Amino acid sequence: MIDEAITAGKVASKVRDLSLKLVKPGAKVFDIAEKIEAKIISSGCGIAFPVNISINELAAHDTAMINDKRVLKKGDVVKVDVGTHIDGFIADTARTVIAGEPNNSLVICVEKCLSNALKFVRPGEKISKVGEVIQGVADSCDLSVVKNLVGHGLGRYNVHTGVSIPNYKNNESGVFKKDELVAIEPYLTDGTGSAVGINRAEIYSLNRLKPVRVRKARELLDWVVKERNGLPFCKRWLNGYGKQLDFILNLLTRQGILTEYKVLREVSEKRVSQREDTVLLVDKPIITTK
Ligand code: MN
Ligand code: MN
Repeated sequence: MIDEAITAGKVASKVRDLSLKLVKPGAKVFDIAEKIEAKIISSGCGIAFPVNISINELAAHDTAMINDKRVLKKGDVVKVDVGTHIDGFIADTARTVIAGEPNNSLVICVEKCLSNALKFVRPGEKISKVGEVIQGVADSCDLSVVKNLVGHGLGRYNVHTGVSIPNYKNNESGVFKKDELVAIEPYLTDGTGSAVGINRAEIYSLNRLKPVRVRKARELLDWVVKERNGLPFCKRWLNGYGKQLDFILNLLTRQGILTEYKVLREVSEKRVSQREDTVLLVDKPIITTK
């Protein structure tokens, strides 16, 4: 487990840093997404989840759409969130770049939030210490934490499992356990500080299998089971279903077979920054995505 997690982390950080070079005014969101995912595969890893590219007030869960025509503009706040895995052991990491402009306080501050918090991510330490540190840095920058987006445990073939790690001051009593894999991911905004789903989903995952009568839906589900092993996927990967795709995904979501992840937007529509690293909680913790 340790070797796989470390190798997945090395690839994730390499791909993430490459993607930062792709973020510039005039670049197409579609091209960035496809290049990042191709690089994960050619580096010998699996894709743990579709690369999230979330722009400005969109905080998370966005990725390139089918035939996405969006082009980055100067000043866009672009969050690139990359997930790799080897044999189900996941690395999850994100950075924020301002297209064509130097980092602003939103980016500098979230960097400080994460680097300060990571010092306390170690076996036996209180999980609430992370939120305390992040909230302290955010306050000093006069920015808000996006409270309903949190750090999390990473299980085998499971992107969100086990512990939940709030980014704000809290009184929860849990401690980090040895040998677990966790992702620490503060989000900052100059807005209200919460994220809500909009009426668009790009990313889905299997919730629970049930019999399906529609043939095309069954076909899609067979692909999900065979290719994703419980990991998320996106509409862009299913372009071949053509006009039926939305119908099939809605059907499977309504039946509770799939979970859909709506694109999340900061409630006051203010811009959001994010930074994330994965930590392996051995005695001397390893930041696998450094
Ligand atoms: Mn992530
Ligand atoms: Mn994460």
